[in-house]
Formats: sequence, structure tokens, C-alpha cells
Amino acid sequence: INILAIESSCDETAAAVICNEKIASNVIASQSIHEIYGGVVPELASRAHQQKIVPIVSQALKSANLTKEALHAVAFTRGPGLLGALLIGACFAKSLALGLGIPLVAVHHMHAHVLANFIEDPQPTFPFLCLTISGGHTQLVLVNSYTSMQLIGQTQDDAVGEAFDKIAKIMNFSYPGGPFIDHYAQQGNPHRFDFPTTIMPGLDFSFSGIKTAFLYFIRNNIQKNSNFIAEYQADICASIQHTLIKMLLSKVKKAMAYTGLNKLALAGGVAANKGLRQAINQMAAEKGWQLFIPATEYCTDNAAMIAMAAHYQYLANDFANVKTNVLPNMPI
Ligand code: ATP
Ligand code: MG
Ligand code: FE
Repeated sequence: INILAIESSCDETAAAVICNEKIASNVIASQSIHEIYGGVVPELASRAHQQKIVPIVSQALKSANLTKEALHAVAFTRGPGLLGALLIGACFAKSLALGLGIPLVAVHHMHAHVLANFIEDPQPTFPFLCLTISGGHTQLVLVNSYTSMQLIGQTQDDAVGEAFDKIAKIMNFSYPGGPFIDHYAQQGNPHRFDFPTTIMPGLDFSFSGIKTAFLYFIRNNIQKNSNFIAEYQADICASIQHTLIKMLLSKVKKAMAYTGLNKLALAGGVAANKGLRQAINQMAAEKGWQLFIPATEYCTDNAAMIAMAAHYQYLANDFANVKTNVLPNMPI
């Protein structure tokens, strides 16, 4: 079975081809236009998707060595995401599938992030717990099968990726700033500064308090030393990153105990964070958990994960049609 998958939920235009369980090509165009605005501008994202979708899809087919006539289905991201951005991918996929007379598969973006764990070996076996941490979501997901997932905890306000990006913006890094914090944190002292953390009950998270605390921390210190950010850049990054990681890990520990599972997976852009990968590796070793983390390129948005999800939906006869609408706030 050959499936072409298209991802256009946010600011990456991506296409991938999956041939029986194997990813045959994976092409991505990231939109740099948003950098100067300090965040994704929805209108500009839609326009960039429109400009890039044809060349990106052609390239994905070409590097998979397939013609479009060899496809068995076309998949697209149904949601969650930006309405205008989702519509570009959905409309393109619908037209192509209609033209070729083949079925459509509508994929849940957050399910796909989880299924990125099946792109390369080693792969987890069911059931396992997945911590999905991205720009818009922070979720603890009980994964029962390729198609059945249950949300057991989530953020009540900001996503952890959003916290990374907002903190990075206060530090004057360009968007998205998460990778800059990660980079400078490696040379810094994680115990140099302390930040107050909000502990939510149960398995939920909250990241809006720490973002505000960080803003006041920077303001207060700049008043005393106008060169504070530049002088302490590495230590600030290391300390705030350490705090964010601590907040994530305390809930992971709780969720693993609550579910009684010993298999843990990570997913989403923040799973690319080197400090987190190291800390969670250490915790897994101590606790005797099996740990799964996708390669960095499969953590951040990509179409290979959409293709993986589409493959299993195809096998489960879970098809969409031209009337299937996109869902910007699609629940898991
Ligand atoms: P969602 O999947 O919730 O709709 P999204 O698709 O925008 O959101 P992803 O592409 O999965 O999110 O991830 C992007 C986020 O990951 C951004 O917030 C970015 O700062 C963060 N990120 C990427 N790399 C790193 C890193 N090394 N350290 C910390 N954060 C990172
Ligand atoms: Mg992005
Ligand atoms: Fe995403």
C-alpha cells in the first residue's frame, strides 16, 4: 500500500510517502517568514502553504520513486491546527484523491505525533504511556493501539513549547526560541537561579505561572544590571530549562505509577530538547522503564508521522471523503 501524506497544520508544509509500513520519502519546508514576528502569523502561514504544497508533494513522490498513479490513498492532517493552514492541505488532498479516484484518510495531528515512535526501531509495544509536548499541547496519553489513545493528563493553560517560546522571546531569541534555550542551557549552571513552579493536582500541568514569574525575574534583574541577560545567558537558560523539565518529569513519574506501565514514549517538538532527553533517560534507567524517543526530525512537525498514522487508519478502513471538514480544535 502506497500512501501520500500531507501536513499543513501550522508553519511547516510537509509531504511524505509510506510504502507498506516504511517511510519512502519525507519532505519539509519550514516557513521562516514568522521569525521576525515572534510567532506564527496565520494569514502568512496559509499563503506560504499554498505556494509550497505543489513543489513539496512533487518532491515527495519523486524521492519515493513513485508516480501519483501508484498511490492507493491520500492523507491529510484534519486537526488540530490553524484553520486556514489546515484547509490548504485538506483541499489539496481532496482534489488529488478525487482526481485519482482513490480514498482519503483524515489524520489527527496529535495521534500522529505519538505514532512518530513507530517510524524507526526500536518501537514500543502496546500499551504504553506517551508524553506529547509540542508548541500547542502538553499531554499524557495512554496509548492502547495504533488507533486508540486516551488522554489522562494535559495542560490547563499554556503548552510547554509555548512556555519555551515565550521565555525565549523575553530573552530576545527569534521564533521558535525553544532550540536556543536548549543550546545555551548546555553551557550553563542549572542551579544558578530558582523559579517558583505551579503544581496542578492529578496529572495536569500548568505553564502560564512560570512564564510570568520569568518575566518579572528578568525585569527585576535588568533594573539592577542592564546587561543581565547577556552576562548570565547560559545560566538563565540552564536554570529555566531545568525547572520546566522538573515540572514535566514529576507528572511523568506520577502517571507511570498511576497506570502501572513501564514503557514510556516521548513525542512533539519539545521532545527534541537535549536536556530533557538526558534527564528522562536517567530517570528511565533508575526506574527500569523502557524509553522511546523519536529522532529529532520526527519530534517536530513532519509528514512522515502523518503517513504512519494514515497507514494504520487505512488498514482499519478508517476513510474520509470530500465532505470531511477540518477541525482546528480537534479533541484527542
Ligand atoms: P502542536 O503539535 O501542538 O499543534 P506544533 O506542531 O507547533 O504544535 P511542534 O512542531 O511539534 O509543535 O513543536 C514545536 C515546538 O517545539 C516549539 O514550541 C519549539 O520551540 C519546540 N522545540 C523544538 N525544539 C526544541 C528544543 N530543542 N528544546 C525545546 N523546545 C523545542
Ligand atoms: Mg512549527
Ligand atoms: Fe505538531
